Amino acid sequence: MFTPDKVQQHIVASIREFVARHVIPVAADLEHKDEYPHEIINGMKDLGLFGCNVPEAYGGLGLSYTTFAMIIEELSRGWMSLVGPIGTHSVICDIINRFGTNEQKQHYLPGLASGERRGGLALSESDAGTDVQRLRTTAKRVEGGYVINGSKMWITNGRYGNTFILAAKTDTEADPPHKGISAFIIEKGASEDRSFQVVRDLDKLGYKGVETCELYFDHFFVPEANLLGGLENKGFKHVMTGLESERINVAARGVGLARAAFEDAIQYAQQRETFGKPISQHQTIQIMLAEMGTKIEAARLLTYSAAEKKDRGERCDLEAGMAKLFATETAQEVAWTAMRVHGGAGYAKDLNVERYYRDAPLLVIGGGTNELQKLIIAKGLLAKYPAK
Ligand SMILES: Cc1cc2nc3c(=O)[nH]c(=O)nc-3n(C[C@H](O)[C@H](O)[C@H](O)COP(=O)(O)OP(=O)(O)OC[C@H]3O[C@@H](n4cnc5c(N)ncnc54)[C@H](O)[C@@H]3O)c2cc1C
Repeated sequence: MFTPDKVQQHIVASIREFVARHVIPVAADLEHKDEYPHEIINGMKDLGLFGCNVPEAYGGLGLSYTTFAMIIEELSRGWMSLVGPIGTHSVICDIINRFGTNEQKQHYLPGLASGERRGGLALSESDAGTDVQRLRTTAKRVEGGYVINGSKMWITNGRYGNTFILAAKTDTEADPPHKGISAFIIEKGASEDRSFQVVRDLDKLGYKGVETCELYFDHFFVPEANLLGGLENKGFKHVMTGLESERINVAARGVGLARAAFEDAIQYAQQRETFGKPISQHQTIQIMLAEMGTKIEAARLLTYSAAEKKDRGERCDLEAGMAKLFATETAQEVAWTAMRVHGGAGYAKDLNVERYYRDAPLLVIGGGTNELQKLIIAKGLLAKYPAK
């Protein structure tokens, strides 16, 4: 049994109140209109949520990964899309804090912490997602910096974000290819600058209200000072280390979404009557509720267990992979089961259940697909249990 400490309880209570007051009353409407939640995002900015994992020395809250997971769960319970703007944002904060030069930390972290700078991770391309080392965007060394050419796909915060970590090939001949990838901190210039363009916002099944974009770079100049850590060809390692925290974060989103679906289902089951009694009194429905509740609790414990390991400064690929896999499969299953509990009502847009059902699959795909998580988990287990 995990018991949050007093500070964590206080933080969770204030986020829960924020969600009840500012998110739940408007989320369905904004989601159906696919409208960006500017006011809610400003509220999150005021709460300091863009600086959750930025050290206090740079103006952030300096929270642990475990506390951050609790915050993500609460936000996601209200509306999963809200985690988009702080999700990859927090990943780039983490990467800059770990691997950035002192100048890069001083220049970028305070703005990222306050939310004045809004970040994203520009890694995936149309032909490189799981197999990210196949990426084709190049960074060619020129006088004083690098010139970037190529395009990026599926970039969360692509339109409203202004600061990104971009992965590009500085050595196209490297073998294996990941040894030729470097990471750059890039900034959007004026909108008339055609060398960094937001080509389009992708129209999605769920995760609506926040943007996922295709970006295009045409001889986009990046100063030498923006090469992450000042190190060429280390970008793959730096970004992959950051993805551990992304996976904990995606697991926590899964717990939040599953909890929302479960809470709606258990309420509905006690109100809806068939054959002279609430459906919660039919054993089939009770079994559904029992399975949902048990899996959510297990998902939360796996998530905290991975986060605590990361808080201790240890690598946690195995634990983060397990948490991401289990929590997001749970979210997908619970969203579907909650719809079944609701019968026909769950299929209509009047209730939130259909939104949970549309939002859940992204969690299985994003942050590294669950097939990839299984490969990471197997690798970790084989290393842990070598042949005797
Ligand atoms: C809404 C949304 C937001 C996103 N936001 C971002 C973002 O902000 N930044 C960013 O960089 N990316 C982002 N992504 C991209 C996301 O990380 C990729 O979609 C994901 O990594 C999968 O890559 P892919 O889509 O190219 O699928 P593919 O890699 O083509 O995979 C297709 C299928 O093959 C399976 N597969 C692939 N390789 C293997 C293997 N070796 N063994 C077994 N199965 C395998 C996959 O699991 C999947 O089922 C986002 C995606 C979405 C949908």
